[in-house]
Amino acid sequence: MNNFNFFNPTRIVFGEGQIKEIDQLVPKDARVLILFGGQSAKKHGTVDEVTAALNSRYSEEFGGIEANPSYTTLMRAVAQIKDNKLDYLLAVGGGSVIDGTKFIAAAVNCEGDPWQEILVNSAKDIHTALPFGSVLTLPATGSEMNANSVVTRYQTKEKLAFKSPLVYPEFSILDPTKAYTLPPRQLANGIVDAYTHIMEQYLTYPVDAKVQDRFAEGLLLTLIETGPELLEKPTDYTLQSNFMWTATLALNGLIGAGVPQDWATHMIGHELTALHGLDHAQTLAIILPSIMQEQREHKHDKLLQYAERVWNITDGDDDSRIDMAITKTRDFFEQMGVKTRLSDYQIPADAIPTMIKQLGEHGLNQLGEHGDVDLDKSRKVLEASL
Ligand code: NAP
Ligand code: FE
Repeated sequence: MNNFNFFNPTRIVFGEGQIKEIDQLVPKDARVLILFGGQSAKKHGTVDEVTAALNSRYSEEFGGIEANPSYTTLMRAVAQIKDNKLDYLLAVGGGSVIDGTKFIAAAVNCEGDPWQEILVNSAKDIHTALPFGSVLTLPATGSEMNANSVVTRYQTKEKLAFKSPLVYPEFSILDPTKAYTLPPRQLANGIVDAYTHIMEQYLTYPVDAKVQDRFAEGLLLTLIETGPELLEKPTDYTLQSNFMWTATLALNGLIGAGVPQDWATHMIGHELTALHGLDHAQTLAIILPSIMQEQREHKHDKLLQYAERVWNITDGDDDSRIDMAITKTRDFFEQMGVKTRLSDYQIPADAIPTMIKQLGEHGLNQLGEHGDVDLDKSRKVLEASL
């Protein structure tokens, strides 16, 4: 196991009806900005519930943070915060609203150009951020309990990620009933995103972290067991609560402590979203099976462990067990209704060179847990995804 330094300061308040706890969690004298997305949090009454829980505190709203949050939109929120001297943020939504809030929190006191300082320079010179909490409405990204954020600049078709210990939420409210209104596409996307987060931290080599492996396998099995039923019964509290907690644990740092981490699927996927507008999870469903195929020699032992412990594949030689594990993974995504080929989204082979060029321009030419996914390998992955 590698050395690690694990720290996660986010308080999780889990369960039906817990939004009222906001009154205990936000400072009494806070001047609050409530941030949300396009429609759902407003329409389904969650924003009103949050406002009620804030009691007599001063609050304003900022709606319209889009899926794959836009830099330009987020900078409008920064202006509102500065103009009205707001000092506490409350994100109400899925990964896009929470990620966007993290960027806003860091951008408010940023002296230079926030795109450059926070996203291009990975927030290296950022020393303060506004405090914030979140109310999760879409289990998927783990953003509610991690320090990562992904922001898109539509003008230049760029999607970049940053990470900073300054942007852990102070608290996150996880009320599974808030996810009851998710349409099947978003629910399926959430399942695929969480599954891939686990795989990015689990399907790596060498293989020697037994605790992390068993945790990761438990989370994968929970998604495989609950995913199909949850799509049928999105208002089942037991299913939804198990899914919500799995998605949070998938990316709160616990299973990634002390193990090599891959993330090539996410990084290649970000270019696909930036250039072709695919949902985040759609990109992962396309790329992950091809990465498994391309990296099968390096990941050989772990793929066999995954085949046996997660999919119960024990018959046949090594190669055929690995083939079957990759097929099972692809089939699971398809069963969730998320297509797994570039051609399913009308993206042709001649779109690949531009994606490779953009990966190169973003310095993403040494991906994977050992930096061996160079641009040539990324090209092969994309070609295998056609
Ligand atoms: P999302 O983009 O936050 O939301 C997708 C859609 O779901 C939105 O259109 C939203 O509608 C709707 N929605 C949310 N909650 C709903 C509810 N309860 N009922 C009905 N509709 C609801 O989706 P996401 O998958 O959570 O986030 C994706 C973003 O997170 C991507 O930018 C991705 O790159 C990033 N990401 C971040 C991390 C991380 O660690 N921070 C990890 C992976 C991915 P409204 O706009 O109308 O609310
Ligand atoms: Fe993700």
